[in-house]
Amino acid sequence: MPGKFGAGETHPPWVEYPPGMPFHIIEYRRPVRGLVLVAVLLLGGCSKQEPLYTEQLFVFGTLVEFSIWGAESEQAREAVSAVAADFQRMHRDWHAWKPGALTELNRALAAGEPAEADPFVLPLIEESKELYRRSEGLFNPAIGRLIALWGFHSDDRPTGPPPSQKTIADLVARHPTMNDIDVQANRVRSRNPAVQLDFGAFAKGYAIDLAVRRLREQGIDHAIVNAGGDLRAIGRRGERPWRVGIRHPQGRGVLASVETDGDDSVFTSGNYERYREHEGVRHSHIIDPRSGMPVEHVASVTVIHDNGAVADAAATALTVAGPKAWHRIAQAMGIKYAMLVDGEGTVYMNPAMAGRIRFEGGDPPEIVFGELL
Ligand code: AMP
Ligand code: MG
Repeated sequence: MPGKFGAGETHPPWVEYPPGMPFHIIEYRRPVRGLVLVAVLLLGGCSKQEPLYTEQLFVFGTLVEFSIWGAESEQAREAVSAVAADFQRMHRDWHAWKPGALTELNRALAAGEPAEADPFVLPLIEESKELYRRSEGLFNPAIGRLIALWGFHSDDRPTGPPPSQKTIADLVARHPTMNDIDVQANRVRSRNPAVQLDFGAFAKGYAIDLAVRRLREQGIDHAIVNAGGDLRAIGRRGERPWRVGIRHPQGRGVLASVETDGDDSVFTSGNYERYREHEGVRHSHIIDPRSGMPVEHVASVTVIHDNGAVADAAATALTVAGPKAWHRIAQAMGIKYAMLVDGEGTVYMNPAMAGRIRFEGGDPPEIVFGELL
């Protein structure tokens, strides 16, 4: 069991806080238009009070934790509540299956009608077209229909046998891609009615980037925004860098830790997060757009990059790329630090990534080094 991030701690295991620091937690809940806001105030239980403010929001079905260093607590609280309002809007407008701006747009795309894209949705389309191209199509948010076919457009875990090979093959043959989408000013249209947008692979990264922008606008330069283990850390934790955990692919606490360097996003994609299981076979929620099948043999991919949206998209794309092609896709997406863990627990990474992480607890895994090509 990983040492200082081990189980039984009050915080999620990947969250940074001073190990062994005596603290007292006050929790209070107040409804913020449907959001349950849980504020956790750290009070100095020791003589010297550390200027760390933390607050948690429950949004996107995930706990989002803010750790803010060196700000007045009132300033920090106001900044987080501004982000909370943004997150609520994202949740509504970017949802892949609950009625909102994106489902409305998807309806028009399927009908071949031109539609005015919501100003909140338009930048996601534009940025994901570019990331689609750079990932050689492995990050493909146009495959919403395939994702729905596999049952992942639901809050609940899908059950039962997988969809038929024929239905999968028919959808793949219709070849929905981000290149099918034309954007002219704010007018969007799809040449291919099989296109259905699902931004699940990078919306969290995009949201965290917006949150960081908002915090900076409010004068906060030292913070971590952490959504269920995917995070962006800016600035420092006082005298030293922030130290954050990389989730273990089997969901067992922390695999490794990273000291962040001024502005780093650390994103992990994994098949342990969402999956379906039938007769002992587990199917990941990450789909290979070339076959329409869930990715096998990759437990997780972690990427460190300065931009959260790019890190998020790349972690998903490298999962699809797998042990043979992750180097090439990382390079094409402008990623400098990447690590892949396969189904047997073997770790693949580039030497630069090895220089940034420290494995936590247990025996170090078997490592295969590879340069990004
Ligand atoms: P992540 O956890 O960031 O890897 O995102 C996974 C989510 O992205 C899935 O739940 C799907 O909604 C969506 N997704 C699955 N496969 C792909 C893919 N190849 N390209 C883009 N989005 C995908
Ligand atoms: Mg992703």
